[in-house]
Amino acid sequence: MIPLSELAQGQHYPAGALYVIATPIGNVADITLRALYVLGLVDRIAAEDTRNTGQLLSRYGISKPLIAVHQHNERAAAQQIVDRLQAGERIAYVSDAGTPGISDPGAKLVDAVREAHLPVVPLPGASALATALSVAGDFAATFSFIGFLPPKAKQRESELATLASHPHALVFYEAPHRVLESVQALADAFGGTRRLLIARELTKLHEAVHRCTLAEGPTWLAEDANRQRGEFVLVVEGAPQEDASEADHDRLLTLLLEEMPVKGAAKVAAALTGASKNALYARALELKK
Ligand code: SAM
Repeated sequence: MIPLSELAQGQHYPAGALYVIATPIGNVADITLRALYVLGLVDRIAAEDTRNTGQLLSRYGISKPLIAVHQHNERAAAQQIVDRLQAGERIAYVSDAGTPGISDPGAKLVDAVREAHLPVVPLPGASALATALSVAGDFAATFSFIGFLPPKAKQRESELATLASHPHALVFYEAPHRVLESVQALADAFGGTRRLLIARELTKLHEAVHRCTLAEGPTWLAEDANRQRGEFVLVVEGAPQEDASEADHDRLLTLLLEEMPVKGAAKVAAALTGASKNALYARALELKK
C-alpha cells in the first residue's frame, strides 16, 4: 500500500488553516485517504458530536484533542477555533456524518474563519445528497436541494406550495418518524404522477433505493414498517414544463380558426410567429377536429 503521505501530496497543508472534512454517512470505509491523512496531521479536531467522531477516529487509530462544535455553541466555539488558528494550529472540522454545512453545522465556523482572513480548505467525501442523486437517474439531472421540510403541517404545506411549479427535481432529507407523512404531503401538494426516489439507509446494511410515483410512495412505505426505519433522502421529479411556444401557438391558432379557414389561420400564424407554415397547418387541422 502506498503511504498516505505520498497519496495526499500535490497540495500544501498550511498551518493556521481550517480543514473542513467530509466523513462517511454509514459505511466507515467511505472515508477518503486524504481525509485520514489530514485528520492525522492536524493539531485538533472540532466535531459536531465528539463521541461519534471519537469512535470513527479510533477505528483508524487516530487520537487527537477534540473540540465540540454544534448548532448551540457554533459561534462561541468558532471564536475559540479562530484564536487557535491565529496561534498557528491546524484544525479539522467534521460534522456527525457526511459533508459539513449540508443540513449540518459548519457554515458559521467557516464564515468566522474567513472573516479572520485565515484559509479554509475543503476535503470532499460522502454526502447523502450526492449518494442518492448518483442513483436517481435522468429525472434528477438538474436538481435543487431543499433539505428538511418544516415539521409542522401548516408550514410544510406553505413551503410545498411555493415549490410546486419548480422545474428541477427537489431533494429532501427526512427522518424515519416523519417520512410517511412527508411523502403523503408531497403527493398532496404536487399531484401523484411525478417520479419519486426513496433512498433509505444509504451505504448501510439495510440500504434500499426504491423508485415509484408520488401516488405510490405512501403505500409502499406503509406496506412494511421496516421501510420507514432509518435515514432518508427523497428525490421528487420537477414540475412538468409546458412548451411555452407550443402553448402560445395553440392559443393563437384557436383564435384565428374562429375567424378563418385552416389554411388562412396557418398562414397568419406563420407570419406572426415565424414558425413553419406546414407545422402550423398540421396543428390547425388537429385543433379543428
Ligand atoms: N451532512 C450530511 C450529508 O452530507 O448528507 C447530512 C446531515 S443531516 C443532519 C442528516 C440527514 O441526512 C438524515 O436525516 C437523512 O435525511 C440524510 N442522511 C444521512 N445519512 C444518510 C444515509 N446513510 N441514508 C439516507 N439518508 C441519509
